Amino acid sequence: MVVVSMLPWVPGQETKPAPMPLLLVQSFVNTWDGDHGSDLLLDPSAARTWLTAAGLWNADRVPAPAELDLARRVRESIRAMLVANGGGPQPAPGDLQAIQAAAQVSRPALQIEPGGQVSLRAEPAGPLEAGLVTLLLVIRDAQHDGTWQRLKACSNPDCRWAFYDRSHSQVGAWCDMATCGNRIKNRRLRQRQR
Ligand SMILES: [Zn+2]
Repeated sequence: MVVVSMLPWVPGQETKPAPMPLLLVQSFVNTWDGDHGSDLLLDPSAARTWLTAAGLWNADRVPAPAELDLARRVRESIRAMLVANGGGPQPAPGDLQAIQAAAQVSRPALQIEPGGQVSLRAEPAGPLEAGLVTLLLVIRDAQHDGTWQRLKACSNPDCRWAFYDRSHSQVGAWCDMATCGNRIKNRRLRQRQR
């Protein structure tokens, strides 16, 4: 069991962490924090620190503005998929454009591990693409092993924090019932009372 607080690249207080390596995708989505209005992928130097710690960047420079722009748009593509996992609408075609663009530059390569396991690794043009392709491969594996459906975006539209739903019924909708769940319920109650 990974102790999440010991991983420097997991943003905020992650109370509902996904198993590794899906935790990487969850943390990538949560580099944007709607509650605090903070974004770890905005400032190039801060972004380099986070991406390097997460193992998604190994270049000897800060990411270029265009690279960070693509990373942030891919992040919102993934978030749109997590909204659907949480029972929201399916992603619109435009929502998936960035992730499709990232997929098109990728050339993942088959590798044979020392034990004979066959794996697929990112082998793309640049460090940013390598990082994004690594995330796509994690998503692909999670979609096959059934963990993907449990990674959801909070149903509070102002929050959209990515959380991992470990509940047996898989009907969890909130990053945190005490905050977002009750906040939305109270808002609906007030609307009904009006
Ligand atoms: Zn929330």
